[in-house]
Amino acid sequence: MLLPWSAAELALAEAALAAKARAAYPLGRDAELEGGARRLMRQLPDCHALAAKIEVHWNARMRSTAGRAWQGKGRVELNPRLHECPEGEIDRTLRHELAHLVAYFRASRFGLRRRIEPHGAEWRLACHELGIPDEERTHRLEALKSRRLPLRFRYRCPVCDRDFPRARPMRRPLACGPCCEERNGGRYDTRFRLVAA
Ligand SMILES: [Zn+2]
Ligand SMILES: [Zn+2]
Repeated sequence: MLLPWSAAELALAEAALAAKARAAYPLGRDAELEGGARRLMRQLPDCHALAAKIEVHWNARMRSTAGRAWQGKGRVELNPRLHECPEGEIDRTLRHELAHLVAYFRASRFGLRRRIEPHGAEWRLACHELGIPDEERTHRLEALKSRRLPLRFRYRCPVCDRDFPRARPMRRPLACGPCCEERNGGRYDTRFRLVAA
């Protein structure tokens, strides 16, 4: 039998915890991602000059956009909320944005300034070269977050016994939203921490 569970309740509990976790997300320039981006970019023989100036930054002011490429500067900005997305989305978003830089770089070499479509053939080719041949043309964070995964992990509230199915194992403690709401003024409390069912 399925115990009562609503997406709204789970969202409440997750939102409270996500707000706490967000404070711990990295901000500013990310040397590790930048190193990876440069190594990746150097595999493209005609893009070494671009590789040398790549910068990767986390930008907490980004809202619904997962990533952004500043073409002239060789700069990529990523939304810190990518940490709430399924595994692998940070890497994929970074490659998506790098593909924009590659496409633009190639279109503007030799003093040329060829106009290209943002997600046109040049971008598609770069995606292929950067290892994401099936990449979609979206920058929307919600689209990444809502990619359907089976809910294989079950958690339970020790107080009210509600069920909380999840796609991925909890990596940080989550509390039961309804219990926090009803018995603790909506604030997180360890008494309502979910346990594996
Ligand atoms: Zn794009
Ligand atoms: Zn509860």
